[in-house]
Amino acid sequence: MDLLLKGGWVVTHERVEQADVAIKGEKIAALGPDLEAPGATVRDVTGKYILPGAIDAHVHYQMPIGDLLTADDWFTGTRLAACGGVTTVIDYAEPSGPEEPLTQSLAQRLAEARDQACVDYGLHQVVMAGQEEDSQELKKVVEKGVTSFKVFTTYNQRLSYAAIGRLLQQARQLGAMVTVHCEDHEIVTAKRQELEAGGRTAPAYHATSRPADAEIQAIQEVIRQAGEAGAPVYIVHVSTGGGAAAIAAARAQGRQVFGETCPHYLLLTDERYASPDCRLFLMCPPLRTAKDNRDLWQHLAGGDLQVVATDHCSYSPEQKAAGTAFYNTPSGVPGTETLLPLLYSYGVSRGWLTLPQMVRVLATNPARLFGLYPRKGRLAPGSDADLVVFDPRQEVTLQAAGLHSAAGYTIFAGFSLQGYPEATYLRGRLVYDRGQFLGQAGQGKFIPGQVSTS
Ligand SMILES: [Zn+2]
Repeated sequence: MDLLLKGGWVVTHERVEQADVAIKGEKIAALGPDLEAPGATVRDVTGKYILPGAIDAHVHYQMPIGDLLTADDWFTGTRLAACGGVTTVIDYAEPSGPEEPLTQSLAQRLAEARDQACVDYGLHQVVMAGQEEDSQELKKVVEKGVTSFKVFTTYNQRLSYAAIGRLLQQARQLGAMVTVHCEDHEIVTAKRQELEAGGRTAPAYHATSRPADAEIQAIQEVIRQAGEAGAPVYIVHVSTGGGAAAIAAARAQGRQVFGETCPHYLLLTDERYASPDCRLFLMCPPLRTAKDNRDLWQHLAGGDLQVVATDHCSYSPEQKAAGTAFYNTPSGVPGTETLLPLLYSYGVSRGWLTLPQMVRVLATNPARLFGLYPRKGRLAPGSDADLVVFDPRQEVTLQAAGLHSAAGYTIFAGFSLQGYPEATYLRGRLVYDRGQFLGQAGQGKFIPGQVSTS
């Protein structure tokens, strides 16, 4: 044995138990009471939780949008992940346009990450209009370990609902998952025209410009397409109670429909757009109401939403300040580093989630849905020793100064936390300890996804 975590409370996706964890090389070797490990480094974790490393299944590091590049690149993005107890991230390979082959965009993204990543990573493949027809390229991407596709119902890279239906059929044959950004393009376009006609284009109108109904209708239509294709589907960043209810209704009929939400949709409201720093809170879809917050917690607790991820897509306040209207302000917020501590303080401590439920939505479920399980997302012998020592007594008031994003701000400034990651291990190596990042660029590995055979 190389490492022994002694005296803590182990939290798996099924239970909480007092147990030691022994690590050999990069793997968890044993789990149980009073383990002996002669020669191993021993860390006393009495009174602490030992959790499987979190998986942030939705991040955008080093992402170009027009002339802008996100503030966090592969290095700073994965460094802040390690500091927040996130040991695997799933980012995106995105073609520069529909003419760029999927495999080319994938090879380029892998090359960007290779020497920079500090935690392990997977990729989703963005598919643009027309590319849903190219079964050879889609198949090659899956063979390279990218087992999920991402499409949009809006923006320039949007696919029609019919095209999404065709991709769903291809994905079913490949055993891959289609993930969808759901906001109905017609509704969003009409709303923007209406606001522009009335001269109401300031960033403060962001939430008005992308109404709840745009999300709900798109989710309903995508679920319908998935039903016709007989394929599973995963809805990213669900922001509305109505959207979550549509997913719940499909699941109640036995459908393979999955949903993800983000901490900001659980914890913040559109009142932020009335403040002078509204640009810092601008992301798509926008923040909603307090009722949506509650409804999303309820659907998460009830198991109708399976994943909490962050959609980390960070811009600095300077980059954000360049926006003069809701449609030209850089859209996106930082979030990976605060994912786990926010879910603990506001999900577990407030009674919405049990500890094993938190482990499921932050680790086990994303690992299963994206083909990384049981290597990732499981705290058991044989799995990667991606572990977080979590101190439930550490009190933290969130502010940018204690965090590691190159964006230099957090949308959760002032949030009180009771409980914070004390240490993070990536495949048995200590990469974060009591405020210090100890990892290095290039130690994160690409983890190929496996298609489900069930
Ligand atoms: Zn995103």
